[in-house]
Amino acid sequence: MSDSRVFDLPVSMANAWIFNGYVIEGDTSLIVVDPGLPVVADRLLEMVGRDLGRQPDDISGVVCTHAHPDHVAGVSTLTHATPCAVHLPQRCADYLAGEQPRVFPLVESTMRFLPVWGAQRFEPRAFAEFVRHGTSIGFGGPPMLTLDFEAAGFVDDGDPLPGAPGWMTIRTPGHTDDSTCWYHAESETLLSGDAVVTDDGRAWFNPEYVDAEIAGETEERLRSLPVRHLLPGHGRPIHAADVWSTARSFRTPPSGRGVLSRCARRFGRWLDT
Ligand SMILES: [Zn+2]
Repeated sequence: MSDSRVFDLPVSMANAWIFNGYVIEGDTSLIVVDPGLPVVADRLLEMVGRDLGRQPDDISGVVCTHAHPDHVAGVSTLTHATPCAVHLPQRCADYLAGEQPRVFPLVESTMRFLPVWGAQRFEPRAFAEFVRHGTSIGFGGPPMLTLDFEAAGFVDDGDPLPGAPGWMTIRTPGHTDDSTCWYHAESETLLSGDAVVTDDGRAWFNPEYVDAEIAGETEERLRSLPVRHLLPGHGRPIHAADVWSTARSFRTPPSGRGVLSRCARRFGRWLDT
């Protein structure tokens, strides 16, 4: 097993600070999920050579769980390195046609998310790139979706993940309207993007959301799927007989005793208090 393999699955992870990217080893090629920021994309490319013994040209596809800057800003690093096809969630087609994406209220959402910022080792380069690209690529800073690459296509609920048989696309709106997960039923693995993050060894349905009602429906749908391996966009992956048995709702404040959890409880606006 390579150093980067997650739980002995045919999936490897590279990250910078809290920004996680993944490589799925398909039958003949590699698929990157969420190349994140350029620093994450660079590390995914290094990992492909160092740990998987493959070439950048073996990467045939890239998919992003949603078009927030910290999930799409690294795509062009990969498309410059190798001629891979990029697929985005179907909802992004509407944004590229001119619809303005909904965004969550920044301050109260960031307050609720605080513990996750402290969940993985801080890295200045990742922070600098997050700040720099936050207003230039993706959406959330600028009003519309801005990309520095061409999407080859879009994927919607029930579609297979292009190039990775066995992985099914699940629409999981709530954090954003374009949020998407990929589920591998055979191994009960969920690549959750920002629909579910992790904190303190527990899954946490993302307390940053654009729509509480829709986030509730997504939480209910995901909890109905058996999940033993949770590979989140932010936070450490979790491996458990039933990941949901200890999962926290997006409505529920964190319970940790650290300063970030205490600030989140005090300054986030929580639906369950
Ligand atoms: Zn996001």
